[in-house]
Amino acid sequence: MDLTSGVPFWIIRDGLPAVYPKLKHDRRCDVAVIGGGITGALVAHRFAQEGIHVVLVERREIGHGSTAATTALIQYEIDSSLCELTDRVGEADAVRSYQLCHEAVRGIERLATEGEGGCGHRRTKSLYLASRPRDREILKQECDARKRMGIEVDFLDGKDLAQQFSFRRPAALLSQLAGEVDAYRLTHKLLGEAIKGGLEVYDRTVVSGIEASNHGVELTTGDGCRIQARKVVFATGYETPEYLDQRIVKLTSTFALATAPVDGFDGWGEDQCLIWETARPYFYARTTRDGRIIMGGADRPYATAHRQDKLLSRQTSRLRSQFTRLFPRIPIDVDWSWGGTFGETKDGLPYIGTVPQFPHGYFALGYGGNGITFSLIAADLLLDLFLERRNPDLKIFRFDR
Ligand SMILES: Cc1cc2nc3c(=O)[nH]c(=O)nc-3n(C[C@H](O)[C@H](O)[C@H](O)COP(=O)(O)OP(=O)(O)OC[C@H]3O[C@@H](n4cnc5c(N)ncnc54)[C@H](O)[C@@H]3O)c2cc1C
Repeated sequence: MDLTSGVPFWIIRDGLPAVYPKLKHDRRCDVAVIGGGITGALVAHRFAQEGIHVVLVERREIGHGSTAATTALIQYEIDSSLCELTDRVGEADAVRSYQLCHEAVRGIERLATEGEGGCGHRRTKSLYLASRPRDREILKQECDARKRMGIEVDFLDGKDLAQQFSFRRPAALLSQLAGEVDAYRLTHKLLGEAIKGGLEVYDRTVVSGIEASNHGVELTTGDGCRIQARKVVFATGYETPEYLDQRIVKLTSTFALATAPVDGFDGWGEDQCLIWETARPYFYARTTRDGRIIMGGADRPYATAHRQDKLLSRQTSRLRSQFTRLFPRIPIDVDWSWGGTFGETKDGLPYIGTVPQFPHGYFALGYGGNGITFSLIAADLLLDLFLERRNPDLKIFRFDR
């Protein structure tokens, strides 16, 4: 599948931060990871930290799947609000999901900023705008629910917003904890660290066959090499549905752009928080450390609609005018624009765990706008599964929920 189209900014910005060999020999390991995006990197890094021997294989170049296209807003807020999620899955699981995401925002920050290079990480706040007047009351209730579970969040009304920002909206929630990162660079950083601990990484190596036995799995690559492992982790992103009988995700196309560095952020508050909104599909925006603005949204049906040049150009203009309506005093030039496949689940939660179809397979599918925080949660949960440590959180994200 073409996961991206146009020119994803990070590949241009960072180039090839590291190179990895193709797999040319048979390998044996504890855990094989299929997929070298941010999810595979987080999982491999977590397992390698525990001294587990992991072999990771990637069919493209490392990070050249959806990870290259991500806009990498790091948020605890799920596409389903806490109140909506409570209605769908019950209060306990909804609250726990929000708590796990909240912890994961800090976890991503630690991984990005520890050691060398910050991977473009910046801690910031997140502003969730009411798109319509009737969303004001919904946000009020949402604010109360989040506060009850201990999240630091404030309700801003139209007047508060007008004092700090250039736009008029009926209300918003301002969350104190959020972040932005360069997920492509973080992927390479995590792999680099884990390689020092024994991880083996091979890119341009496609897994074409998976055979289960009593003791584990044997993967076959396109070049005929075999990898024997006790377990295999599918960190295969939006291409995973091709392996599964069950339909768990609706694939769509989404769009993003990066501007040239701007002269200033007039009308965007003191520290340029992340911006998103209650409308669906939602518009969102963030900044980069070199003074650019990245924005995205304008989702369209169908997984690969983003490949149409005309649509990419139309959705780019749409994003641009959505931005200008919010921030008329920030003139922008679009440097790069791109599209990508995106996935939504019925409740906004990821799928993490096992399916009967693959007895030794683990799945790490961080579908939704919080893909990256979900992937960190997946890494922790799958490690517990592998080490046979009981973790009640696994049931929240199970496939048969
Ligand atoms: C435009 C856009 C904006 C987004 N914005 C955000 C955001 O702001 N915040 C956020 O948290 N998330 C966001 N997301 C979602 C986020 O990008 C994804 O959740 C994340 O990149 C998924 O990473 P991944 O590693 O699971 O998938 P990928 O990066 O796609 O990696 C999976 C890899 O598996 C490999 N693979 C598949 N099958 C095989 C095989 N048989 N053999 C070998 N390799 C195989 C693929 O080549 C691929 O590289 C956005 C997504 C898009 C497209």
